[in-house]
Amino acid sequence: MRKITSFPIISVLLCGFTYLALNSCKEPAKLPPSASTGSEDVKIFSSYKGWPFGKQAYKHTKAIVDLGPRPIESEAHKQTQDYISSKLAKYGWTVKKQVFQANTPYGKRNFTNIIARKKVGSDEHSASNSPEILLAAHYESKMMDGFVGADDAASCVGALLEIAEFLPKVDATTAARVELVFFDGEEALKRDIVPNKDGLYGSLYYSSYLNKDVTSTNSNYSKRPKFGILLDMIGHRNLSVKIPGDSPYGLMKSYFKIVEEHRLDDQFGVAGGSIIDDHLFVNEIAKVPMIDIIGDFASPSNRWWHTNGDNFSNISQKSLTTSIQLAVELMRDYDAK
Ligand SMILES: [Zn+2]
Repeated sequence: MRKITSFPIISVLLCGFTYLALNSCKEPAKLPPSASTGSEDVKIFSSYKGWPFGKQAYKHTKAIVDLGPRPIESEAHKQTQDYISSKLAKYGWTVKKQVFQANTPYGKRNFTNIIARKKVGSDEHSASNSPEILLAAHYESKMMDGFVGADDAASCVGALLEIAEFLPKVDATTAARVELVFFDGEEALKRDIVPNKDGLYGSLYYSSYLNKDVTSTNSNYSKRPKFGILLDMIGHRNLSVKIPGDSPYGLMKSYFKIVEEHRLDDQFGVAGGSIIDDHLFVNEIAKVPMIDIIGDFASPSNRWWHTNGDNFSNISQKSLTTSIQLAVELMRDYDAK
């Protein structure tokens, strides 16, 4: 379980400011009707044209879920890695694997982060091609009998792969500044994530590596990336995203700007506190501001979370269409600052 921790005062102030800013806009909000699962009212609002938003992400999600439960060190986990790596290679990205061991409540276990940069020269994972934007999700599923984690987080891996395919086509300049990160070991091996004890293994390793590299050897990163976006549970048919209440301020501002501009507030809001997820160590250790676009796992209406109800029948292409657009528009807005 990702716990929501107590609400820091600074976040209350920031949220209050955002709330006031949103509600003082000139035009009274006319909200769209609540979400349906049909495809007839899919809203296309991205300024990127020629990108069939959600379509490929939906297919990737199905392909990954069809591999079966993919907890760390399982056969399906390995197959998921192969699936991700082969698609990335096909879309012109070079893949680097961070293979490491970490202590868990069940002893030393093996983990693999998958990192991709767009092909630009001979050595794409060098400091001379240091990324400025991180787009991330976790790919393993929680170690539970029969649990396939369709929205937690196969859908988000699907979204990243769709971005890997289409961003270079519509915006090659931005794509060349992106690092895609597929974290391993986000889930606790026991029930709840306890930072530095259980869960967030991949993001801890990645963030520590980045921080060390950028301050010493400069072999992969010559500077800290400007910002990052983490996706987690963005494809459920009852889409209800709640970003952490203590999200980095500028990213939160961009998020609310996009939400307001495209009237997405029926599906995109903010949680009343912090959320423990992979963005945590990226913010704290890598010192890269990262926002977590995360489905509201804590709501009583989301009883599917961490149950076998998190299966492909609950994944909606329409939700993916909306979430991926939100993510890329947020990326563009913040990047322009
Ligand atoms: Zn989970």
